[in-house]
Amino acid sequence: MINLLDFDRDGLTRWCVEQGEKPFRATQLFRWIHQRGVADFQAMSDLAKSLRQKLVGQAHVVGLPVVSEHVSRDGTVKWLFDVGGGNAVETVFIPEDDRGTLCVSSQAGCAVGCRFCSTGHQGFSRNLSTGEILAQLWHAEHHLRQRLNLPEGERAITNVVMMGMGEPLQNYGALVPALRAMLDDHGYGLSRRRVTVSTSGVVPMIERLMVDCPVALAVSLHAPHDTLRDELVPINRKYPLAELLQACKAYLDAAPRDFITFEYCMLDGVNDQPEHAQALLDLVRGRVACKFNLIPFNPFPASGLKRSPRERVQAFAQVLQDGGIVTTIRKTRGDDIDAACGQLAGEVQDRTRVQERIGQRRSIALQPVSGLS
Ligand code: SAH
Ligand code: SF4
Repeated sequence: MINLLDFDRDGLTRWCVEQGEKPFRATQLFRWIHQRGVADFQAMSDLAKSLRQKLVGQAHVVGLPVVSEHVSRDGTVKWLFDVGGGNAVETVFIPEDDRGTLCVSSQAGCAVGCRFCSTGHQGFSRNLSTGEILAQLWHAEHHLRQRLNLPEGERAITNVVMMGMGEPLQNYGALVPALRAMLDDHGYGLSRRRVTVSTSGVVPMIERLMVDCPVALAVSLHAPHDTLRDELVPINRKYPLAELLQACKAYLDAAPRDFITFEYCMLDGVNDQPEHAQALLDLVRGRVACKFNLIPFNPFPASGLKRSPRERVQAFAQVLQDGGIVTTIRKTRGDDIDAACGQLAGEVQDRTRVQERIGQRRSIALQPVSGLS
């Protein structure tokens, strides 16, 4: 059985043509599935009966089983989805006055193994398929429309950020069709500016995304120089800062926004000193148009790290602002249901023994960094 959630519209068109159907049937089907949230072929009333019958034998539209749903006091909703084999991934809906943002996972676990990230601590199990990435949006959108009692045609989700579990650019093949379905006017109709891929810095894939499907780009920086970034974001050893910044600059030629968002997780005594802020300015100014988003670290027991005090985060932001870089401090949402950044724990069968590797490194990175090497 083919799961039709696994296709973007081009893929669905190819599949329909292989079944001897006209290409426009794929658009009809796609609209039923993604715009209306319908999974039952018999309910797709404008499809020929013969086609509906054919579909029943060959295909289905199946989402992911929901393990749990939690609603925070602030309206944030967190779902845990079962992706089989003892793995589960999380998806978070963050309502704001003028938008509804869905934070989507791309992998069960993550192989990058960042020091401050609970997903990274769990290790990597496997890539999600296109259907599993889209199923998170499909479920959330149609579920929320019902729950919020939205009028016909109104969307619950206006923005998607690929900031859940996993490194989206290490699952590129499945990611791109999912992004295309999000952007498709017959799908979710989101503008490229409202779909953000967040990456720890997989340089060759940033270069490909720019050609294949340019959307807004967020890059998780977390350190102003390679020595510290090597420790916090191990992929930096493969793609150091100079290469990463060059890729960011190039990306801007195709990007739907005229800046890159740099995310920076504020870790007490590790990367949060005024010298770090100054070094960041020296790193990016005149080199790449950017904004900074400072994320107060969300602690979890195994990290051994602490959140920077509020005043220090504010002082850090001030240095960047004074240096002419627009800087925001991320509000923590949904922390009463462990839905804040980097708290998404899911359940992952670690197939990479990344925990051991992180454990071995702990002593190095835990030493507060004073001055800049
Ligand atoms: N792998 C991608 C996207 C998922 S992580 C990436 O790293 O960009 C999304 C964001 O959450 C990243 O900026 C990441 O650095 C941040 N993050 C991870 N763990 C965190 C934590 N414990 N507290 C605050 N932010 C965290
Ligand atoms: Fe992976 Fe992103 Fe977490 Fe790093 S921060 S371990 S890249 S999910």
